[in-house]
Amino acid sequence: MAEPEENNEELEATAAADADDKNVAADEESLAEADAEEEGGTVIRDTDIVFDCPHCGHNLAIDYRGAGLQIECVNCGESVLVPIPDGMKIDDLDIEPGEILKQLFAARRNLQRAEARIAELELELRGVTMRSDSLRALLESFAIQLEELKELSRNEVKLRDKSAALIGRLAGDISATIGDAAHSEMLNGVDETASDAE
Ligand SMILES: [Zn+2]
Repeated sequence: MAEPEENNEELEATAAADADDKNVAADEESLAEADAEEEGGTVIRDTDIVFDCPHCGHNLAIDYRGAGLQIECVNCGESVLVPIPDGMKIDDLDIEPGEILKQLFAARRNLQRAEARIAELELELRGVTMRSDSLRALLESFAIQLEELKELSRNEVKLRDKSAALIGRLAGDISATIGDAAHSEMLNGVDETASDAE
């Protein structure tokens, strides 16, 4: 019957996880209560190890981080070994739940800051994209205007060539006309001279 055992293990694991969550919650509370405890001196937290002094029987409560440590009884002053609670491994003490909480809170703050930064950057990106879109539109309209200008200038060159050719042709016609006129005038003059001589 392996299956039920596995299920039990799962249940145990879930229970342990739940217990961890409770510890975290308890620790959040205990952080808030820490000052009050120092003033009162009698507040016993869920995470405290509570035991009786083996010498005088005085009820002692010590923070779980004291597990396995040698302390002096507050009542009789004898050296007492703080018991390690069942299911607690000394290795677990390497990282204190308080430290884990601090790291968790710091991670949460960093996450919030990162998310805010991401939102900022997304907004900035949207602005840049919009600006780049309008710049591209502007650039496109510049390109179109440039093409129009090139076309105009090509037309102007053509026009200039055409008018130069026209002017050349007109000049040729004019000089030809003038030449003809002069020639016939000259001929007339010769005739007149000839008739004068007669
Ligand atoms: Zn004692």
